[in-house]
Amino acid sequence: MAHRSAIRNRLAKPLPDAWRRWLVERGVPKRKYTAVCRLTLVGGRVVEEAPTVALFTSPRHPYTAGLLHALPRLDDDPGEPMRTIPGVPPAVALDEGCAFRDRCSLSGSRCAARPELLAAGAGRVACHHPLAAAAGP
Ligand code: SF4
Repeated sequence: MAHRSAIRNRLAKPLPDAWRRWLVERGVPKRKYTAVCRLTLVGGRVVEEAPTVALFTSPRHPYTAGLLHALPRLDDDPGEPMRTIPGVPPAVALDEGCAFRDRCSLSGSRCAARPELLAAGAGRVACHHPLAAAAGP
C-alpha cells in the first residue's frame, strides 16, 4: 500500500495551489486529487483547465460551455434535434487569434489576437471574454 500511496502523492504534487485550495474547501479527500483535472482543447490548444467539478458546474470558456450544453440529457425530447455548436471545428489552429472565434457568439475584435491561458477561479482559461463564474453548487 505504501507504494500506491507514493505514486498517488507524486501525481498530486503538480496540482496548482489554487486547485488544491479549491478542492480542500469543498471537502474533496486528498486521495481523489489525481482524477479531478479536466482540459478543453480547440484546434489542438488548451483553452481551459480546471478541477472537474468546477469545469462542469462553472465553465469559463465559451467552447466548454457549448460542449456541456450539447450533452444529451435523459429528459430531452427524442423528437427534437440534438443541440450542437454551430460551425465546423478547426483541424489544427495555426494562425494567430482564438481558435474558436469563427464559432463563438462572444467573438470581438480582440479575439484576432491569441488569448493566453490565465488564472480564472479554480483553473485557467484562454479567452478574451471569459464567462462569469457560476454561483457554485
Ligand atoms: S477569445 Fe473571443 S472568440 Fe475566443 S472564445 Fe473567447 S470570446 Fe470567443
